[in-house]
Amino acid sequence: MNIVVCIKQVPDVDDIKWTNENNLDRQGMLSKLNSADEWALNWAMNLKSKFKEASVTAISMGPNQALDVLEYALAKGAERAILLSDKSFSGSDTLITAKILSHGIEKYIPDYNLIITGQKADDGDTEQVPVSLAQYLNIPDVTHTVEIHNADKNSALVSQNIDSEVNMYEMTTPCLVAVKKECPKIITPRINDYIRAESTAIEVYGANDLGLTQEQTGIIGSPTVVYRAFRPQIEKNTVEIKENYARNILDMIFKV
Ligand code: FAD
Repeated sequence: MNIVVCIKQVPDVDDIKWTNENNLDRQGMLSKLNSADEWALNWAMNLKSKFKEASVTAISMGPNQALDVLEYALAKGAERAILLSDKSFSGSDTLITAKILSHGIEKYIPDYNLIITGQKADDGDTEQVPVSLAQYLNIPDVTHTVEIHNADKNSALVSQNIDSEVNMYEMTTPCLVAVKKECPKIITPRINDYIRAESTAIEVYGANDLGLTQEQTGIIGSPTVVYRAFRPQIEKNTVEIKENYARNILDMIFKV
């Protein structure tokens, strides 16, 4: 079984800067793996441990810096790691991000059975990439997944939790699952895993490799334009709670 895990590198700072086009200025920013993608990797490794012939490919669209998170995925146990990177990809919105990922998966991992993504990115936080990717690939998807019970070459059985309602779905493969909860089995790479990972070359592909033109990607190809980016003003008011007032509330609670 071939499992693909979509991983994104996100800024590891609170003090973010913006470009003139209202995109994040990622120059010199400290970065880390998106939290939900760590969970996605753990679910993939968990499935791999059940199926001897299963293999995991981690894929990311981003700048060269994203090689770090792909190296980490290899250390965690992925067999392959792919970076989709090109100057022209810069400024891509969620739709174009999904389009680039779909081209990369179709061309370089054509025999995939299951795609696992995080439910949302810590920075962009739109939750749009997983569903857009499934749409581009024309495959079924389940979002808000809290458990992947089983998956093989033919089907995947997952539980979804939306508004405290749990639904269980069985999908035929190939399919996509977006996870919003950590896998009970967490894999933490050790120093030897990092040394082993170094022997696997990370594959890097650009726009030409994917058959995409400059007009189809980046700011030019993206239908979304960020109109304004700003920090919300948070006002704090101090409310003095008088002793009697607090006692009345406590009395009310304990009487009920
Ligand atoms: P979500 O949809 O919340 O992510 C859910 C899951 O999708 C993730 O957990 C992960 O599994 C997967 N996923 C998301 N993004 C990727 C990825 N890149 N690679 C692999 N898997 C992924 N971002 C930039 O980095 N550089 C830019 O220049 C840039 N310009 C933008 C311009 C515009 C007009 C807009 C609207 C957005 C721009 N972004 C840019 C943000 C970018 O579109 C999103 O951050 C990102 O591609 C996905 O959206 P999200 O963060 O909301 O992810």
